[in-house]
Amino acid sequence: MTRMIDEPDVRELYQEFILDHSKSPRNRRILPVANRTGEGHNPLCGDRIALMVEVDGGGVIKDIGFQGQGCAISTAAASTMTEAVKGKTLEEARELFERFHRLVTGGAGPDIDSLGKLSAFRGVAEFPMRVKCATLAWHTLQAALEGESEQVSTERVHE
Ligand code: ZN
Repeated sequence: MTRMIDEPDVRELYQEFILDHSKSPRNRRILPVANRTGEGHNPLCGDRIALMVEVDGGGVIKDIGFQGQGCAISTAAASTMTEAVKGKTLEEARELFERFHRLVTGGAGPDIDSLGKLSAFRGVAEFPMRVKCATLAWHTLQAALEGESEQVSTERVHE
C-alpha cells in the first residue's frame, strides 16, 4: 500500500483522542508542591513546556502538572503523558517513555498493546517532523526525573 507522503492523512494523525487532549489538556496546572521540574523546547515547531513533578519518598510520581504552549500534538502528548505516568514509579515511567518513543519513531510494534490509549500516537511515526512534538514532554519528564536542571531542547536530545 502506498501512502501520499506529502499529503498527510490528518484524520489519522489527529485522532479523536489526540484532539480531545489538545483541546482540553489534563493536568495543565501549577503544582503546589513539586520536587522535580524541567523545561523543554522544540525550536522546529515552537513548542514549549514546563513540567512540575511531585515524587514521593517511595519513588512514585504522586502528582504532575505542566504549563506550556505548542501545537496540538505537543499539547496532547503532554496531557496524555501526565495521565499515563501519574501513580507510576520512576522506573515504570522510564519504561513507558521507551515504549512510547519506539511507537512514534517506528510505528506499531509488539509493544503497542501495552501502551493502551497512548497508541493513538502511532500515526506520528509517519511524520518525522512531528516526532519531536510528540516526544518533547517525555524528554522533558526524563530530564526532570534525572534531576538535570538544564533546559531540554529537541535539538540536543537523541531522537
Ligand atoms: Zn509541535
